[in-house]
Amino acid sequence: MLEQKKGFGIEMKKVPFVTKEQIEEIVKTYPTPFYLYDEKGIRDNAKAVQEAFAWNKGFKEYFAIKACPNPFLIQILHEYGIGCDCSSMTELMLSNAVGINGQDIMFSSNDTPAEEYAYCAEIGGIINLDDITHIEFVEKILGSLPETMSCRYNPGGIFQLSNGIMDNPGDSKYGFTLEQLLEGYRILKAKGVKNFGLHAFLASNTVTNEYYPQLARQLFELAVRIKEETGVELAFINLSGGVGIPYSPEQSGNDIQVIGEGVRQVYEEVLVPAGMGSVAIYTEMGRFMMGPYGVLVTKAIHEKHIHKEYIGVDACAVNLMRPAMYGAYHHITVLGKEDAVCDHQYDVTGSLCENNDKFAIDRMLPQIDKGDYLVIHDAGAHGFAMGYNYNGKLKSAELLLKEDGSVQLIRRAETPKDYFATFDCFNVFEKLGN
Ligand SMILES: *Cc1c(COP(=O)(O)O)cnc(C)c1O
Repeated sequence: MLEQKKGFGIEMKKVPFVTKEQIEEIVKTYPTPFYLYDEKGIRDNAKAVQEAFAWNKGFKEYFAIKACPNPFLIQILHEYGIGCDCSSMTELMLSNAVGINGQDIMFSSNDTPAEEYAYCAEIGGIINLDDITHIEFVEKILGSLPETMSCRYNPGGIFQLSNGIMDNPGDSKYGFTLEQLLEGYRILKAKGVKNFGLHAFLASNTVTNEYYPQLARQLFELAVRIKEETGVELAFINLSGGVGIPYSPEQSGNDIQVIGEGVRQVYEEVLVPAGMGSVAIYTEMGRFMMGPYGVLVTKAIHEKHIHKEYIGVDACAVNLMRPAMYGAYHHITVLGKEDAVCDHQYDVTGSLCENNDKFAIDRMLPQIDKGDYLVIHDAGAHGFAMGYNYNGKLKSAELLLKEDGSVQLIRRAETPKDYFATFDCFNVFEKLGN
C-alpha cells in the first residue's frame, strides 16, 4: 500500500492544468464526474519523446492504447508519427478506424484468439508473438507467415535496478524463454520471415531514467548473440512500456531526454561495433504518454463524521480503480484551495457498496466543503480505461481541454440505456412504460 502520505507541514504540491474558474464554466455543460485531458501537455510530451530518440533513424513509439483508448487522443499522438500498440480485437478495430494500420500497428497480445491474428494480418499490423507455439498457430490461420514478425522475450528471474526498483519476470506469463527465442528465430527464418523484431517488458511504472538503458543493454547483447547463433539480423528492438510517472509530488519524474541519450550510448557501445547500427528502436509507452495529462474531476457531495472523517464525492472506483485495486496513490487538489493549509485528515470515498472504494485514505487536505471540486491527478493512463459498471454505475464523459482554452467532448457519459443495452431479451424501458 502506497497510501501513507500523512503529516503536517510537508510540502506536497502538484499544480493542476485547470483552474476552479474553468471547471465552474465546464460544469455548466458537462456535469461532474468527468475526465479532462490536457491537449498542450499531450503534445509537448509527444514532441519530447520524438526528440529524445531522433538519433535513431527508424525510431517509432507505438502508444499502448489500452492505457487510454480514445480516438481523439490517439489521433493527436499520430500527428507526431506515433502508432498504436494493440492487444485485442477492439483495440485493433479502434486503431484501424482512426486510420492507423499497416506497420503503424504493433500487435503485442498474449493468449491470442485466432480471429484476432487474422484481423491483425488483414489490416497489416506487426504481429509480436508471445509464445513459440504461436508460430504454428499463426501459420495455420494465415496460410503462411507475414514477412515481418517479432518475438517477446522473458529472461525469467528478477529484474532489478540500482535504485531498488524491481520486478519479477520469472513469475510473469509473458514471452519466450531464451532457448525458445533462439529456436523461434531459426524456425521463422526457415519459414521465410524477412524482418525480425525483439520485444521485452521487464518492469512496470519505473520512475528512474535507468530502466530503458538497462533493458536496452540486455536486449542489444541478446541481439548480437541471436545474430551469431542463428544468422538472424534484427530489424527492430522494442523496449515496450514501463516508463513511469511520479504519482506522488515527492517523486521527481523521468527525463525522457536523459533516457533517450542513455539508450543511444548503449546502442553505440553494443550494436554499432557488432555491425548492427541500423536496428530501429521501438517503444510502446502508455502511462508516460498520457498519465499526467488526464485528471478525474469530481464534486464533494457529502461529509460524514463517524469514527473517521469522510468526504463523499460523485465519482467512485468504477471511474478510477487504481486506488481501490492496488492501493495506488493519486494526488488530490481541492480547486480554489490550492494554497490552503492541509490541516484536515480525510478518507475521500465513492458510493460503491465496497469499503475499498476510496480515492484517498487518511489524506491531509484543506477543509473540504460540499460543492468543492476535487481534481484527482495522473489519471490519464489506466484510468478511464479500467472502468467498469459495478453497482450499476455508469462511466463518465471524457473531455479535452484544447490549447485555445475551449473544451471538446471526446466521449459522452454513459446513460442507463447504455447500461441496459445488452438485454436484447428483456426491454427494461418497455417494462418501465417508456
Ligand atoms: C501495458 C503494456 C504497455 C504499456 O505499458 P505502460 O506501463 O503503460 O507504459 C506496453 N506494451 C505492452 C505489451 C503492455 O502490455
